[in-house]
Amino acid sequence: MTSTLPIPMSLIDLHCHSTASDGVLAPAEVVRQAVTRGVAVLALTDHDEVGGLAPAREAARAEGITFVEGVEVSVTWRAQTLHVVGLGIDPSHPQLTAGLAGLRAGRRERARAIAAELARCGIHGSLEGAYAHARNPDLIGRTHFARFLVQQGVATDVKGVFQRYLAQGKPGYVPHPWASLEQAVAWIRASGGVAVLAHPGRYRLSSGAMEALLAEFRNWGGMGIEVVSPNHSLDDTRRFAHLAVRFGLAASAGSDFHSPEESGLSLGVLPPLPEECRPIWSALGLG
Ligand code: AMP
Ligand code: MN
Ligand code: MN
Ligand code: MN
Repeated sequence: MTSTLPIPMSLIDLHCHSTASDGVLAPAEVVRQAVTRGVAVLALTDHDEVGGLAPAREAARAEGITFVEGVEVSVTWRAQTLHVVGLGIDPSHPQLTAGLAGLRAGRRERARAIAAELARCGIHGSLEGAYAHARNPDLIGRTHFARFLVQQGVATDVKGVFQRYLAQGKPGYVPHPWASLEQAVAWIRASGGVAVLAHPGRYRLSSGAMEALLAEFRNWGGMGIEVVSPNHSLDDTRRFAHLAVRFGLAASAGSDFHSPEESGLSLGVLPPLPEECRPIWSALGLG
C-alpha cells in the first residue's frame, strides 16, 4: 500500500462544477466524490445554469450531507470578465432563471464567433466539436472548445489550448458582454441567495481597481469574496482575507473543481480560512 501525504481537508466546499456546465462529472457524481473526500457542506455552482441542482440535491440527501444551491454568474465589469457565485439561491426564481437564460443565449452566439475565429486559424468544425463535449446542450463554454481542441491534437491539455487559443488576447478569444455586476447581484439576491465574488486573485486589476470593485460589489449588496481558492497563492489568500475584513465582506472557500484530470485540486482539498475572516457559511446559517 502506498502512503499518502496529509492533505488539508475542508468540510466545506462552496464552488464546483458538473456536466450541467463545464465539469466532467454528472451532478450526483460530483456529490458522491465530495462525500468520499470528506466534504460535509457542498455547493454546486455551475456557470450560468441551475439545471444540475435538482439531481445534486437528491444525491446529497441520499448521502446525508448539507447541500447549498449555487450558481456562478458571468459578469462584465469595466471590460473584464468576472464571476459572481450565488449561494443559497432559489433555482426556480423567475428573475434569476430569466437572467441566466439570457446569458446562455449569449454563450450560443459567442460559440459561433469563437468557431469562426478558430476557422480563420485553420481549425474547422469546432462548433460541432465543442457541442459534442457539452453534456448540457444549453450551456456551451470555452472549456468545451478546449476539450475538442485537445482531442484534435492542437495541444496536449486544456490549459495548453487556453494559452494558445482561448485566453484573452489569443486568436480564438471573443470578447463578450455578460451580465452587469449590478444585475448578477440583483438576480442572486432576488432569489434569496447571497452573492460572493469568485476567485478575485484571478482578475488583472490594479489594487485601486480591485478596491473600487469591492466597494461597488458591496454597494449592490454583495456579501462575500472567495478568500480560499486554488486560483490563489498564499499571498493572494492573505491579501483577500485582509480586504474582506476591510470591506466588511464575509469569506468563502471553494475548490472550483471541474474534473479529476484537468485541475490540480480535488473537491474539498482546501486550506482553512485565515482566522480574521468571517465565514460566509455563518451568513448562510450553516454554523
Ligand atoms: P467561459 O465561461 O465559457 O468563458 O469559460 C470559462 C472557463 O474556462 C473557466 O471557468 C474555466 O473552467 C476555464 N478556463 C479559463 N481559463 C482557463 C485556463 N487558462 N486554463 C484552463 N481552463 C481555463
Ligand atoms: Mn469553468
Ligand atoms: Mn470562475
Ligand atoms: Mn468556477
